[in-house]
Amino acid sequence: MSRHHEGLTGRGRARTAASDEDVLATLREIVGAEHVLVDEARVEPYASDAVKEKFPPEAVLLPQTADEVAAIIKLANERGFPVTARGGGVGYTGGAVPIEGGVVIGTDRMNRIRTIQADDLYVITEPGVTTYALQQAVEAVGLFYPPDPASYKTSFIGGNIAENAGGIRSAKYGVTKHYVLGLEVVIPTGEIIRTGGLTSKNVVGFDLTGLICGSEGMLGIITEATLRLLPLPEATRTVRATFRTMTEACACVPRFNRARVMPVAIEVLDRNAIAAVETEFAFGFGQDAGALLLVSVDGHASEVERDALIIESVVREGGGFDVMRSESREEEERLWDVRRAISPALKKFGTMKFNEDVVVPRSRVPELVARVEEIGRRHDTFVVNFGHAGDGNIHVNFMCDRDDTEAMRRARAAVRDTFALSVELGGTISGEHGIGYVKAPYLDMALGAATIDAMKLIKRALDPNGILNPGKMFV
Ligand SMILES: Cc1cc2nc3c(=O)[nH]c(=O)nc-3n(C[C@H](O)[C@H](O)[C@H](O)COP(=O)(O)OP(=O)(O)OC[C@H]3O[C@@H](n4cnc5c(N)ncnc54)[C@H](O)[C@@H]3O)c2cc1C
Repeated sequence: MSRHHEGLTGRGRARTAASDEDVLATLREIVGAEHVLVDEARVEPYASDAVKEKFPPEAVLLPQTADEVAAIIKLANERGFPVTARGGGVGYTGGAVPIEGGVVIGTDRMNRIRTIQADDLYVITEPGVTTYALQQAVEAVGLFYPPDPASYKTSFIGGNIAENAGGIRSAKYGVTKHYVLGLEVVIPTGEIIRTGGLTSKNVVGFDLTGLICGSEGMLGIITEATLRLLPLPEATRTVRATFRTMTEACACVPRFNRARVMPVAIEVLDRNAIAAVETEFAFGFGQDAGALLLVSVDGHASEVERDALIIESVVREGGGFDVMRSESREEEERLWDVRRAISPALKKFGTMKFNEDVVVPRSRVPELVARVEEIGRRHDTFVVNFGHAGDGNIHVNFMCDRDDTEAMRRARAAVRDTFALSVELGGTISGEHGIGYVKAPYLDMALGAATIDAMKLIKRALDPNGILNPGKMFV
């Protein structure tokens, strides 16, 4: 299936099918016949991402070098077929699926970590390394790569950079872009460029590294990344507490900083999220649990003990009850089980989960959650809120049944109202998952016309033939 689209060039230029035999023959010369997949069964795993809508590519190409990627892109420009890059394929906005047909470039074989430089605190890696494998490799030599999307076991570094992924450690350490020092990128006309370098200070020319981070595979294909590392913190501790209200729980967040503690993670669950995990897994939460906070700290062992005690006293003073503080790694893991239980617990509330990731200034989280509950009531849709209270990025989940057309319509209306609310509160429609094709219809709720036009100009300048990941971000 492919959607006809005139592409960003607006010229409606006829595209040559990538599956034409002479095109396939050239692609086989470029990457080797065994790395060009056309059989339905072998192409199938590349047809969808976490959105689960299927758009099978005409062919999947598995190059191993930047030169091979560049040759594919040059051919795509000559013959006019779309190219979509793919990492681990666990994006939440359809970024890696070829909605206008053409080929998918899978980065599965570009999976080597090239070097880890401990003294200079960087790692050079190919894009097809999973986030987890990279974390493990650097931790083995006492170093730390903080970005930690929950999909870390399957997402690739290339996909993380293209989506500018965040995670629970963002409260202290920021998001992927804060760790990207330099990139090798095949731009949409087939040239190979290098951005940034090996150093954290580098102000030569435009910040093209920053431009590529979060560009959702539309401005170039990342073939190598140099990532900043930190020393691995010696210890971590977690405090968990329940509160009567979301307002009470969230009021603790700025108080941690006023007490001169910078938690790694501050996660919050609302009443419905607690009820869902309680029904499914019986953690022992009572009816009075209206919100739950999980707060982690890291650093030197002695510092971490002190910070955990400060966190504990702040949550107690703020009205927290059933307060628990981990004393060991095992206890810490058990405290976090409740957060990991949410996704499986939500399955009983519907076959369809509209999992949004809106973000607001963190002091507005209680208002966001209260008004989202009201939106849920107005559209007769069950809603569960949880997420990153430390950076204001809340996962708003509207639940319904996929086969119930009317319920799906109401949930979509609730999503639109939630996006409008996030913008009204000074935030925006996505903190982590990006736009892809799923959120493209809402882009103008978050950005002004002139801003969108500036983005389109950049896209056209770099991709005059509109071959790279067409049909995404802009409707
Ligand atoms: C269970 C689950 C939990 C998640 N948790 C989080 C979370 O905590 N935080 C978060 O931020 N996100 C999260 N996500 C969303 C998603 O995992 C992230 O966006 C992740 O970065 C996607 O990586 P990927 O390798 O799967 O990319 P893909 O889905 O394969 O691709 C995503 C985009 O990147 C582009 N791309 C991929 N590789 C390259 C490359 N080499 N060069 C240029 N463009 C490329 C693609 O074209 C596409 O537009 C979660 C998803 C799931 C399913």
